[in-house]
Amino acid sequence: MPSLHQDFYYPQTKAEALALLSEGKERMMPLAGGTAVTLMQRRKEVALVDLWNIGLNTIQEQNGSLAVGAMMTVTELMRHESIQSYAQGALVQACRHLASTSLRNLITIGGNIIQIFNWSDLPPLFLALEAEVELQSQGGSRRTPIETFLSPHPRKNLKPDELLVNVILPPTAQNRYAQFTKFCQNQVNFSLATVATNFRVKDGVIQEARIAAGAVRGRPFRLNELEEMLVDKSLDKATLEAAETMARQVVKPTRTFRASVEYRQNLFAIIVRRHLEAAQSHFSLKG
Ligand SMILES: Cc1cc2nc3c(=O)[nH]c(=O)nc-3n(C[C@H](O)[C@H](O)[C@H](O)COP(=O)(O)OP(=O)(O)OC[C@H]3O[C@@H](n4cnc5c(N)ncnc54)[C@H](O)[C@@H]3O)c2cc1C
Repeated sequence: MPSLHQDFYYPQTKAEALALLSEGKERMMPLAGGTAVTLMQRRKEVALVDLWNIGLNTIQEQNGSLAVGAMMTVTELMRHESIQSYAQGALVQACRHLASTSLRNLITIGGNIIQIFNWSDLPPLFLALEAEVELQSQGGSRRTPIETFLSPHPRKNLKPDELLVNVILPPTAQNRYAQFTKFCQNQVNFSLATVATNFRVKDGVIQEARIAAGAVRGRPFRLNELEEMLVDKSLDKATLEAAETMARQVVKPTRTFRASVEYRQNLFAIIVRRHLEAAQSHFSLKG
């Protein structure tokens, strides 16, 4: 059971929070939305540093990229003006399907990354977008690709005195098309198959394919083999079929009582195909 005898700190600035983490080292644990922390078994000597008031809940434009504050809640993110059309609305789509309204009001972008599960919703899309994370301590800040940060686990890559301060979303280009699909039995159930894609297409030919899968096993990851197969292929029926077949082979979901492995493999394969079909019509509509 979580201990009730715990110290809380309520810093009012990022500098105060970083100073607390620097002084306390492993004794301090950042508290964001609290939806995971409240369920954790914690040592009572661990003190919680509440990040709610330190101002990490804004979006700043940085040379075409968007620096999304780690303390933005999912609700704040999906309602933010600059996110509405970002990546053809794929980010709004991912937020909208994350848990329930009350949880979306609490879950933060940073918490969703650090407390990662195989079914976590935002990390697959961040992988397909090739987002970066910005980490900060009293000693300075550093940026790292999200793929590197997630592997083997975000906690292993975050020093005890560091905070995740921003998720950097790269500029989106005209010839890119991003999509997000989460398939689950109902809105508040865990995903059975999550797929995020981001294709760069020129003259009907795929120049770059980024495909991330969630709800498979371990943590969300990129389907490198499938991505490589798609490069330089025309966005035609034969490519769609080859992608569907390969997705069925390379995605190896764990067994769950909710659905059989074969059923989930079919889900992944069909979602990948549908994303390619949607990309096909998106680019052909553009002439
Ligand atoms: C019933 C339920 C259903 C859920 N369903 C889904 C779902 O369908 N999809 C989904 O994606 N998520 C879902 N979640 C949310 C997910 O499991 C985590 O609880 C959530 O992402 C944690 O975010 P938080 O802001 O509440 O973080 P917290 O619980 O406050 O923190 C989580 C961890 O991250 C660390 N941390 C947080 N922010 C920072 C930061 N900026 N810098 C450094 N460390 C930090 C904390 O120290 C802690 O270790 C669900 C949660 C619950 C309780």
